[in-house]
Amino acid sequence: MVRIRGLRKAFGEHVVLDGIDFDVLPQQVVVVIGPSGSGKSTFLRCCNGLEVPQGGSVEICGRTLVQDGQMLPEKALNALREEVGMVFQSFNLFPHLSVLDNVTLGPRKLHGLGRKDADALAHDLLKKVGLGHKADAMPGSLSGGQKQRVAIARALAMRPKVMLFDEPTSALDPELVGEVLQVMKMLAAEGMTMMVVTHEMGFAKEVADVVVVMDGGGIIEAGDPQTIFSNPTKERTRSFLQAVL
Ligand code: ATP
Ligand code: MG
Repeated sequence: MVRIRGLRKAFGEHVVLDGIDFDVLPQQVVVVIGPSGSGKSTFLRCCNGLEVPQGGSVEICGRTLVQDGQMLPEKALNALREEVGMVFQSFNLFPHLSVLDNVTLGPRKLHGLGRKDADALAHDLLKKVGLGHKADAMPGSLSGGQKQRVAIARALAMRPKVMLFDEPTSALDPELVGEVLQVMKMLAAEGMTMMVVTHEMGFAKEVADVVVVMDGGGIIEAGDPQTIFSNPTKERTRSFLQAVL
């Protein structure tokens, strides 16, 4: 589903991703953990074309997004990006649009859906994330947890094949974290392929098929949650987990 080979990204002299190889299989939930600055966000951003890596390749559903520093041409890039939904820590909703219009904008502008079909799709997705009653609300009137659930509905409206989440609950008050994780668990149970950067180790233990530990420019260790949390092979994984658990 996502095939990453030799992925290399540097900012100036600073090498952030030092030749990463990784595969995400269909329906897998991959949780990426690691210390601040270890390149987790950069890794995700390379997987949907938000960063241009200097080397290596990323394939999404068998199509090459980037190879040896060469991105797809813009039109093909945008088409491929539609298959990769992204949810950020900071929600990034359009503040001047209603919740419904936030969700319908992409399908209307990019998939050519008519107002009626787009509204029906959006109402379905809002119901799915528990916000059927908020369609007409403005983002400013929502809690952080509600905003993030709208952001998830908006990403799903593009019918992505893969969903990327970059610390989706880090900006939330603790009591709002659960409602967002619940929606993500539901997506995982439905078989959505997901890459999730998070500090929520409970989520990683419960939902991840594979936990990836990043540090110092690469993947130090990747494995099932049981192995990573109970029996990691690398000392750096142990010390990171000791610090966060
Ligand atoms: P955090 O847990 O704090 O979100 P992270 O693991 O997501 O960290 P990244 O945001 O990927 O880490 O950053 C990795 C390194 O790359 C950091 O040292 C960061 O300062 C640097 N970096 C990221 N983006 C840029 C940029 N646009 N320009 C220069 N340096 C950058
Ligand atoms: Mg980050």
